[in-house]
Amino acid sequence: TISPLIAGNWKMNGLTHSLDEMAELARLLTTGAAPRAIVVVCPPATLLSAVAAQGASSGILAGGQDCHPQSSGAHTGDISASMLADAGAQFVIVGHSERRQLHGETDDVVRSKAEAAIGAGLKPIICIGETEAERDAGQAEHVVSGQLAASLPEAASVHEVVVAYEPIWAIGTDRTPSLEDIAAMHASIRTCLTERFGERGESIRIIYGGSVKPHNAREILDVDNVNGALVGGASLLAKDFYTIISAV
Ligand code: 13P
Repeated sequence: TISPLIAGNWKMNGLTHSLDEMAELARLLTTGAAPRAIVVVCPPATLLSAVAAQGASSGILAGGQDCHPQSSGAHTGDISASMLADAGAQFVIVGHSERRQLHGETDDVVRSKAEAAIGAGLKPIICIGETEAERDAGQAEHVVSGQLAASLPEAASVHEVVVAYEPIWAIGTDRTPSLEDIAAMHASIRTCLTERFGERGESIRIIYGGSVKPHNAREILDVDNVNGALVGGASLLAKDFYTIISAV
C-alpha cells in the first residue's frame, strides 16, 4: 500500500505573516494525533526557505510550485530545480493547469521540468486534468491519458514522481467530480502507469486536486487509487488544511 500524500499549493498567496499559519499547522500536527499522510506545503518561492526551516521540526516538507528545465543560466525571473532544493524543497509542482493555460506550457515542457526536478533530487508532482468542455464531450480519460503519456519522464526514476489529477473545472470552483468519476479516472491513470512502467506503476502516487475541502476530503481520500490530495484554497488556513490531513 502507498502512504498518502497531502500537498498544499499556496499559489500566488502568502506574505511573511502567512508563516503564522505554518506555525499553527506545525502546532496542530505535533499536538494532535500523528498524521497518517506525508504533508507538503508549496509556498511561493519567496517563502520557501522559511517554510522548509519552520516545517523541519514538525515533519512538514516544503515544495516549489514550478521550476525551469535548465539548472542555471540566462533565464531572468525563473528558478531552477536545484535552487529549490538548495532552499530546502523536496518536491516541486510541475505542469499545473495555471502554468499550462496562462504560461503556455506544453506536455514537452512539463516533462523537461519533471526531469530537471528529478535530476536535482526533487520529487515532481506532475499535474494533468481535463477542461469542462473536454469532459462534456466524453473526452476526459482520452485527454488525461495523453497528457500523462507525454508529461511523465521515462522509466528510470519514475518512482520519484507523483501524479496529480486536477480536473480544471474543479479548481477553485467548489465543484468536484462525483466519487464514481474520480474513481474511474484514477483507475484509468493507474492502468496507464502499470502498462507503461510495469510493477513500478503500482507504487506511483496518484493524488486528486480540485476543491478539496474539510467537508469532502474524507470521501474523496477513501476512493480507490486516490493516494492523497493537492489542496489549493483550503491549504491557506492551518485549521482547514489540518482537517484535510486528518481525514486520511
Ligand atoms: P483548489 O483546492 O483551490 O480548488 O485548488 C486546487 C489546485 O489547483 C491545487 O493545485
